[in-house]
Amino acid sequence: MFCAKNSMLEFQDVNKTYTADGRKVEALVDTSFTIGAGGFAAVRGPSGCGKSTLLLAAGGLLRPESGRVTIDGNDVYSLSPEKRAVFRAKMIGFVFQQFHLVPYLNVLDNVLAASIAAPSPDAGSRAKSLLDRFGMTDRLHHVPSQLSTGERQRTALARALLNQPKLILADEPTGNLDSENAELVMGYMKEFTESGGAVLLVTHDDRATGYASQVLQMESGRLLESSTVTQ
Ligand code: ADP
Repeated sequence: MFCAKNSMLEFQDVNKTYTADGRKVEALVDTSFTIGAGGFAAVRGPSGCGKSTLLLAAGGLLRPESGRVTIDGNDVYSLSPEKRAVFRAKMIGFVFQQFHLVPYLNVLDNVLAASIAAPSPDAGSRAKSLLDRFGMTDRLHHVPSQLSTGERQRTALARALLNQPKLILADEPTGNLDSENAELVMGYMKEFTESGGAVLLVTHDDRATGYASQVLQMESGRLLESSTVTQ
């Protein structure tokens, strides 16, 4: 089946319907889009329009009823659950509004936790070098409760990048940050795209959207438009 040559994330006619209390909700309707290598896409739309469903489907965490999700040419849902888990650990970095750090692990161990599913002999040196780049070298042995929100998100971003993924999926990553830290985190994500990675960002934040080269506008499970932003 056709797959754009430099596409990093591709949705082809993806459909997902939930059923709750006998009522059907169409969360994704015939959704198709492509984010190329180096692409930075922001997903926008009102609450309930399907943004989280799109992110889960992109992350290999929610199988659609129909359609294909392809990451770097690999049909994600054709993989067995075990292979998909390893594929996800190697190919995708997740960044969340609430950081989701392990409260009893220090900064370095939180970042290294990402290597459990994708072990690598140089994980330790890569973790330290990422944390150094994000200005966290003097915080390596602090636990999350001893960090500012900006430091927590920079730790979470280092964890997301540890396995040298090709795709970052981010859910409101600036939602809990002051503007200085929001700019730092978005700047690091932009750098990631400049080195050939792709980002899919769900956000309500106009400043964060300003980093995107592509905007996916959603309403009631439908992708209204996929526009390219001239920068
Ligand atoms: P958004 O992230 O844009 O707020 P979601 O993807 O979370 O939207 O939800 C899209 C629609 O699907 C909403 O109407 C929501 O209520 C519904 N929905 C989401 N998850 C479930 C679920 N597990 N069961 C039933 N309905 C769901």
